[in-house]
Amino acid sequence: MPVYQKLKKPEKGDVISVSSGKLTVPDRPVIPFIEGDGTGPDIWKATQPVLDAAVKKCYGGKKEIVWFPVHAGLSAIQRYGIDTVLPEETLNAIREYKVAIKGPLTTPVGGFKYVCLECAAEQNDLNDKRPDKCVKCGSAWVTQRFRSLNVGLRQTLDLYACVRPVQWFTGVPCPVKEPEKLDVVIFRENTEDVYSGIEFEQGTPDVEKVIGFMKAEFGKTIRPDSGVGIKPISISGTRRLVRKAIQYAVEQKRRSVTLVHKGNIMKFTEGAFRDWGYELARTEFRDQTVTEKEVGEVHGGKVPEGKILIKDRIADQMFQQLLLRPDEYDVIATPNLNGDYISDACAAQVGGLGLAPGANFSDDIAIFEATHGTAPKYAGQDRVNPSSVILSAVMMLEHLGWNEAAVRIKNAIGKTIQQKRVTYDLERQMQGATRLKCSEFGAAIIDNL
Ligand code: NAP
Repeated sequence: MPVYQKLKKPEKGDVISVSSGKLTVPDRPVIPFIEGDGTGPDIWKATQPVLDAAVKKCYGGKKEIVWFPVHAGLSAIQRYGIDTVLPEETLNAIREYKVAIKGPLTTPVGGFKYVCLECAAEQNDLNDKRPDKCVKCGSAWVTQRFRSLNVGLRQTLDLYACVRPVQWFTGVPCPVKEPEKLDVVIFRENTEDVYSGIEFEQGTPDVEKVIGFMKAEFGKTIRPDSGVGIKPISISGTRRLVRKAIQYAVEQKRRSVTLVHKGNIMKFTEGAFRDWGYELARTEFRDQTVTEKEVGEVHGGKVPEGKILIKDRIADQMFQQLLLRPDEYDVIATPNLNGDYISDACAAQVGGLGLAPGANFSDDIAIFEATHGTAPKYAGQDRVNPSSVILSAVMMLEHLGWNEAAVRIKNAIGKTIQQKRVTYDLERQMQGATRLKCSEFGAAIIDNL
């Protein structure tokens, strides 16, 4: 049981437990939340009342979320000191309570930190002002790239599956003619691929060593003035991600799972992802799935009743497919970088990031979060659209099995948008809409619950 020094653990509420991937949810689960930086606090102020009202409306006081505020990003620095953007206490709270929700976090400006090679002191670059020398021993600082907080959180807690459902809300302005045809759930691998963080900067002794090694050991030539990044994709990482995607498709009775890859070019990473994905479907889901090849060769071109179609598409052509034939796609499983691009492209297709929810899962921990960032220019103005975090909270309620509350909130958001009572981002694109503040939009959702 972790001991918290600076965090105040709630006096009531119980722990969610997880066994073999199955949650046991008490009636009063404690849920840690990180408000986030920039517009995060504005959004959270609008979000929490919506959740509390929906839960109250659906369960009449029998169930209740007990909120546990924890910190990361700038709020962590304020409480824990300049070097602590992701406190161990925050990680421990998430490990203990298993389900958490967060707002967007600032990756410190410039993306660098300063490290002293003499005394190992570190300082984050927060104000874009490079200190001349180490504040502790006076030696020269060395600059190091600062790891993104979100990537750090995902990797530390091994949150290997980033899940992003994309669906259109009636009335939301968007760039395509038939946005209702897109209804996909993207499972993006979250821990490996080019996001593994193994990079060697151009012009450094390290990159010179790597380039020399590639030449000496494998006869491969890399231009000497290159930076080099490593792209690992493992069987174990692929299997667990594809397993989660197919399990989801089975449970939610979805029609297909598409493995999206760039295997025509990167055969041993992206191509292997495709092959391992098909193999997993064959070995673990034989009775529930059928491949596109089998449909053509054995089933006369028709997917047998009740079977989930497993297919694959090359990433570049998938972007075209999603625009031209969106209704042919359903669950998508893909390596990290493809998933990053595809989820933003899909979100844009149905009206943008303001309405794009997401969640990150390990085998036992889940963190729910918006896809967008901190939008710092609007911080403290009570202006931005809170829907992305509210919809992430809807995913959280579904994860808890509190589906009645989830459906109620989703319907209320839809109704509020159809009433044309929306925040600035939608109002500026909608004819005859009323512009609401972030908090007013939250209140309008509560009215419509
Ligand atoms: P951003 O915060 O997503 O904002 C870019 C633009 O998107 C905003 O200027 C705004 O567009 C629109 N937008 C974002 N959130 C919105 C909302 N809730 N409602 C309505 N419109 C919204 O991207 P950024 O400016 O590139 O990044 C800012 C910071 O966020 C960086 O420190 C970055 O590291 C961080 N970040 C964090 C996460 C995360 O925590 N998951 C993700 C991405 C970025 P208009 O100006 O057109 O109104």
